[in-house]
Amino acid sequence: MAATFAPQPSSSRHRSRAAGLKSCMTKANAHTLTDIFDRSISYLRVSLTDQCNLRCVYCTPTPLSKLNHAELLTYEELLRVIAICVDLGIRKVRLTGGEPLVRRNVGSFIEGLAKINGLEDIRLTTNGVYLDKYAELLRQAGVNKLNISLDSLRRERFREITGVDCFDQVWKNIEMVCAKGFTPVKINMVAMRGVNDDELVDFAGLSLQRPLQVRFIEFMPIGNSAVWGKEKYIPSAEIMERVQVLGRLDPLAQHRMDGPARVFKLPGGMGSIGFISPLSHKFCEQCNRLRLTSEGKLRSCLLSDQESDLKSLIRNGASDEQIAALVMETIARKPQGHKVTEGENCHGRMSRIGG
Ligand code: SAM
Repeated sequence: MAATFAPQPSSSRHRSRAAGLKSCMTKANAHTLTDIFDRSISYLRVSLTDQCNLRCVYCTPTPLSKLNHAELLTYEELLRVIAICVDLGIRKVRLTGGEPLVRRNVGSFIEGLAKINGLEDIRLTTNGVYLDKYAELLRQAGVNKLNISLDSLRRERFREITGVDCFDQVWKNIEMVCAKGFTPVKINMVAMRGVNDDELVDFAGLSLQRPLQVRFIEFMPIGNSAVWGKEKYIPSAEIMERVQVLGRLDPLAQHRMDGPARVFKLPGGMGSIGFISPLSHKFCEQCNRLRLTSEGKLRSCLLSDQESDLKSLIRNGASDEQIAALVMETIARKPQGHKVTEGENCHGRMSRIGG
């Protein structure tokens, strides 16, 4: 399906809809969007579906529940919202889920997305199972930057964590995308004490021989809350210390479109190692993100339950200006920082919000 929504040229109509917000014209004739804490908002993460082909113990909701297809934003609605966000100042979009590659006709949606003027960077977060099917299409659409989730390098443990015996398939696909020149390829490993922390050094070691960025993510109290527990959480500082049996970690410079990872290199390593530390090393003051959930809600913080109901607005016939106004209002309410470390709970589901 091709994009049926033609993005409108930027105009001053979106500016200052919400008090204190800025969506300003730059010299390059594109908008930049800044929130009330002076954070540049340029990144939209989109959960295409809450469904997933894996059943990761810490992520899959219990009891298992699924949205009906009619509850998801259609591809046409998604392209319209994304184009409006790009017009306001969003430059980078990440497709996630659930598992984005399980949504029917996702290829034609990605092709439509790639045609949005002003969208500079499209990325994908996936469990990697279907990458063999989509690699060529992704490359042709310019989606070369992949995050692949992998919590174990051991086939049997992978099956225990994900509920599916497909480690070999995922590993084959990781090697395939590296060979095809996708870059960067980032491996996301959620470190959990007593579950997979005996593999921290093995994961870090992958960055020695391969051009991968191995990223250790702190386990967050979101998703299947029955599984999360303080005893499983491992702070990045401890992971750093443990992987340095392989050598000293040298910090690498951050790039403009880089996420919140602090990135290092082992001596002689082809790849790098990143640490994402939402709990021990909050990065809220640099947070440039908005999230569109699979049920069409707009969220300005992963770990805050505040959401705006974009889907109802769209389905009640809202104009582009009204949709843009709700986006601006959502950004205006973006919290200065999450409060999970101060005991506030987040009740959202990772698969719907988009990890
Ligand atoms: N299916 C895709 C995948 O597997 O990458 C995209 C969705 S998945 C929800 C995105 C990422 O969120 C995965 O890397 C997953 O490990 C991470 N994630 C889920 N629950 C988490 C939690 N409680 N703490 C930290 N990361 C989590």
